[in-house]
Amino acid sequence: MLLVKNLSFAYKEKKVLHNINFTLEPGEQLSVIGESGSGKSTLLKTVYGLLQPATGTIFWKGKKLLGPDYNLVPGEDFIKYQAQDYDLMAPLTVAENVGKFLSNFYPRKKQQRIAELLELVGMSDFAQRRPDELSGGQQQRVALARVLAREPELLLLDEPFSNIDNFKKSALRRELFKYLKQQGIASIVATHENADSLSFSDHTLVMKNGKIVHRGHPSILYQKPKTKYVARLFGEVNQLPLSWFEEDKKGLVLVYPHELIPDADGHIIAIVSDSYFEGHSYLNKARVGRRNIFFRSEKGIPNEFAVNLRLKNGVLETRLNE
Ligand code: ADP
Ligand code: MG
Repeated sequence: MLLVKNLSFAYKEKKVLHNINFTLEPGEQLSVIGESGSGKSTLLKTVYGLLQPATGTIFWKGKKLLGPDYNLVPGEDFIKYQAQDYDLMAPLTVAENVGKFLSNFYPRKKQQRIAELLELVGMSDFAQRRPDELSGGQQQRVALARVLAREPELLLLDEPFSNIDNFKKSALRRELFKYLKQQGIASIVATHENADSLSFSDHTLVMKNGKIVHRGHPSILYQKPKTKYVARLFGEVNQLPLSWFEEDKKGLVLVYPHELIPDADGHIIAIVSDSYFEGHSYLNKARVGRRNIFFRSEKGIPNEFAVNLRLKNGVLETRLNE
């Protein structure tokens, strides 16, 4: 089990992590989301043992991890870490890269393991290629296979799907997280892409300026975001006056675009300024008075068209009640 307690870190004078606390059980999946520069990569590097914490402690199964100042070779053995930049060995083939850290003692077993991992990341057909013949996304998949080669107990992945096209991404993500669960490998995935977090993690930490500003199951973060920052990680969001929906009510409420529903009886009148096709629906940008809002519709809407909107049932109750 991983226990991170009061962890902080500074690059020279600049404090980048403030008082981080969390735990992770074997086989659990944690995602760390937050805007660029919020400290996600720094957190992973500190947990892995590449950066020495300024304060705080990290325990793994009750044993204190000492950090790079006390270890001859930085990085803990039972942890595997894939950095945002994955450095594959140029002279080696894909298969050799994946097998680089596997023992040569049982060559047949080693080849089987390499084949199994390349299959997992969908790169079997490229086993004999060299990294410079691969696209960025393909290199990223090979790097993923490589960190899995010697089964880690804890896997740290920094933006693991950033270069992989959507076409391949969904399938890879499903396969990878299924594999991690089956093998009981705990993981921490840093990402600014919410879908990574939504479907596959047991817990999510939301970071901003080096602090954890919100944490919980992704569905709770989505349904009851405490701030616009949290809601915004899931896509566009409106922050609207409560008085639009309930007379005399003060304050603001966060409303996702699909929660504003075109309805002839709706009393919010929005003038559409842009309508974006997004496959399952259109995302419309519109003006209500001087405020810009977003709402969804099944069909595209011409510019300057007026649309009556109402709030989806139950939204206020969800957002306002603790
Ligand atoms: P994220 O991964 O969430 O984008 P990072 O952990 O990379 O964030 O960075 C957090 C903050 O630390 C940023 O303000 C960044 O500019 C700063 N930072 C990152 N790496 C270094 C470094 N090697 N030296 C100094 N500052 C750094
Ligand atoms: Mg980063």
